[in-house]
Amino acid sequence: MMASVHVAVGITTATLLEKSKKKRLLTVSFILNVLLHGVLDLLPHSHPINSYLDIAIALLLFSLIFFTDKKYRKLFALCYVGSILPDIIDLGIFRVLPVGNFKIFPWHFKAVFDLLDRTYSSGFVNMAANIIVILTCITIFLIIKLKQHHAENSASHN
Ligand SMILES: [Zn+2]
Repeated sequence: MMASVHVAVGITTATLLEKSKKKRLLTVSFILNVLLHGVLDLLPHSHPINSYLDIAIALLLFSLIFFTDKKYRKLFALCYVGSILPDIIDLGIFRVLPVGNFKIFPWHFKAVFDLLDRTYSSGFVNMAANIIVILTCITIFLIIKLKQHHAENSASHN
């Protein structure tokens, strides 16, 4: 799955978790995002844009942290990092280290990859899936932020 899709999902979960009263929220959110990465990698998907553009979009999405209240920025950053960490390790660090095909995260194992390749047809559906996931995430993120902004504004007018 593309890096930009992973981080789009990551920052959306951060937004959804802001009001959570869960104990150890930061740790839970981080782990949740690492696992969500796996779920996304198992869905049908393709890489319709080149990886430099993908990484650029992923990095650009981090700027949405400035739309996030200061007290939730640590949550945002942890969700962002958690959402992309498996790729940073398995597809980034391990690619430059002399570890052969070694991977930590099972959804990156070659056997899993080959199985998915046989299972899913490639092409338009997969590309559309990427775009739909990114747009859905950004839409959810913006709706929540606009609602918060609206709530703050009406509170300050009262
Ligand atoms: Zn991955």
